[in-house]
Amino acid sequence: MLTDDQDEYSFATLAVRAGQQRTSEGEQSEPIFPTSSFVFENAAQAAARFAGEEKGNIYSRFTNPTVRTFEQRLAALEGGECCVATSSGMAAILATCLSLLKAGDHIVSSENIFGTTRVLFNKYLARFGVETTFVPLIHLEAWQNALRPNTRLLFLETPSNPLNEVADIAQLSSLAQAHHCLLVVDNCFCTPALQRPLELGADIIIHSATKYLDGQGRCVGGAVVGDGQQVGEEVFGFLRTAGPTMSPFNAWVFLKGLETLQVRMEAMSQRAQALAEWLEAKPEVSKVYYAGLPSHPQHALAARQQAGFGGLVAFELEGGKAAAWTLIDSVKFISITANLGDAKTTITHPATTTHGRLTVEERAAAGISDGLVRISVGLESLEDIKRDLQRGFDGISKR
Ligand SMILES: *Cc1c(COP(=O)(O)O)cnc(C)c1O
Repeated sequence: MLTDDQDEYSFATLAVRAGQQRTSEGEQSEPIFPTSSFVFENAAQAAARFAGEEKGNIYSRFTNPTVRTFEQRLAALEGGECCVATSSGMAAILATCLSLLKAGDHIVSSENIFGTTRVLFNKYLARFGVETTFVPLIHLEAWQNALRPNTRLLFLETPSNPLNEVADIAQLSSLAQAHHCLLVVDNCFCTPALQRPLELGADIIIHSATKYLDGQGRCVGGAVVGDGQQVGEEVFGFLRTAGPTMSPFNAWVFLKGLETLQVRMEAMSQRAQALAEWLEAKPEVSKVYYAGLPSHPQHALAARQQAGFGGLVAFELEGGKAAAWTLIDSVKFISITANLGDAKTTITHPATTTHGRLTVEERAAAGISDGLVRISVGLESLEDIKRDLQRGFDGISKR
């Protein structure tokens, strides 16, 4: 359903309908196919499937109908030709790099990316002869200066986490094109509901489906979206060989997550905007990092490039680490966890958690101060979220 005539439908419709193929049972909701292998009608069909002469399922490390439905739906939402699902967001990045790079190739990456991605580049890919240069996300000149003849791939997350810096995807795409390298965008924080990097010239989209695509904190998974050659042949070929594929159950959970993605992203963006404005007016808060605020340096770019500003809000407390911990320890229902993208609002202290392993200098360079707090705004009532945080602010002023 809605695979051949996708262009005729809007995002909201595709999010609910794309990729579904009803079986003869006439089910309304998509079925889960928990099967490791598939049977053939006869020996000739088996031979034809294995030879690649006939399309069809063989084994769930290669293809699975539930996983395929998720892949087709996400591809439709990103406006991509092809999507392959992976066992995690990290597996999506690994599969992209190992299938499209070789020893001697060079990556230029924005510096404030997901910590584990940095470890993947620095510790593991480096061992296989792929070197990475890290540059500040928002400085186009730094990207330009970092390019080498062997640069094959530009990698970035925009907006960045937790400081919500925003890069100009179209500009970076021109740079990538001029140097014949691939532009890979980790679209975890905006999701296609708020930002469609392929339309801005990116070549490949990475997802940690674990975050907003699921949106309810249930499963770990990931995806790569792009064209039929790089993603459909190369990344898919690596995955079916190396094995970090998505389970049908997880695919089903993510598939259902996609159906509510747009309404969730809109609701979270609205709450985050109101919360950022509320925080900006607090005397205990010295700075709020949210691209929806006119005070944000890339506010205009974000407004142009994104359909919303997303659910992550970071802010700095005058009182440093003591104030940050007091605020965090005062909340009653907001979850103290580094995870994000959940219907449940979460709060975290980056300096001692996600960025705790960095040296003091590295943290300073990344802009992670001791007074920084990050909130991933969920779907609870905004008034309740504010009330929960106000308890913390009362605690800070009493100290
Ligand atoms: C969480 C995250 C990842 C890794 O995803 P997993 O599903 O945890 O493997 C990659 N990129 C970003 C931006 C993330 O937030």
